[in-house]
Amino acid sequence: MYYGFDIGGTKIEFGAFDEQFERVATERVATPTHNYPALIAVITELVTRYDAQFATQGKVGLGIPGVEGRDGTLLTANIPAAFRQPFRRDVEKALSRSVSIENDANCFALSEAWAPSCQGYSSVLGLILGTGVGGGWIQNGKVWSGYNHVAGEIGHMRLPMDAWFALGENAPIWECGCGQKGCIETYLSGRGFERLYQHWHEETLSAQQIMARYSAGDVATIEYVERFLDVLAITLANLLTVLDPDAVVLGGGLSNIELLYQELPQRITPYLLPIAHCPPILAARYGDAGGVRGAALLNYRA
Ligand SMILES: [Zn+2]
Repeated sequence: MYYGFDIGGTKIEFGAFDEQFERVATERVATPTHNYPALIAVITELVTRYDAQFATQGKVGLGIPGVEGRDGTLLTANIPAAFRQPFRRDVEKALSRSVSIENDANCFALSEAWAPSCQGYSSVLGLILGTGVGGGWIQNGKVWSGYNHVAGEIGHMRLPMDAWFALGENAPIWECGCGQKGCIETYLSGRGFERLYQHWHEETLSAQQIMARYSAGDVATIEYVERFLDVLAITLANLLTVLDPDAVVLGGGLSNIELLYQELPQRITPYLLPIAHCPPILAARYGDAGGVRGAALLNYRA
């Protein structure tokens, strides 16, 4: 049995998967955001109860909104109780077994890489265009975590120079929560899409409202969306040149925009090396369920 935990700032989602990786149990509990012993206890209680129910000792994978540093402590803004705590080690101690842990964007990417739509692809780049920009790099069905476990933190890569030029005159230089300036997260997230529109059009609209205006044929909005698509395409082209994945999977709010899948391949190609082709760009299949699935997959055929 494989247990996955998607630990968020407000709720913890739990899923149990059998040997065929069919989901056989689901639970959702509130995250004890400010109480560390309670956080460990919630996880321990679920694992112990399902171990008893299935008469097994399940393998545990944790997906977290943060990073486990090289010293084994967590860097996370969304769960203050676990900040700088040796979270995985404490869960291992409480459960008397080894436990896997990964950033939630890596879990999203891992879940998508194991989707039937990605069968036959040995490397998959998962990209979340949501409140922020997250990413995960999967090779041969496994997360590429990196020296500091920050591989795939694509949102904190700075905007490439040609993307900056594509943004055009009066492009804002925004500070990011990570302390740097010009991180792609501030421009290419769902929030960035709305913020850039507000910057040039002095009107606060949601991403959906912007796309409704685009579909209605509003000239200024069409110009804006095309510029945004170019900036996204150039940034993606840079990533594709470095990683050259077999497929890219998009998740998060902006991934619901159909136009991305029609427009991105042709807009990306001019920015690749002449010999290179744009790989398939797919919509995420599992949505919000991807976090739990990915966390459980950390131990599947590991
Ligand atoms: Zn940043």
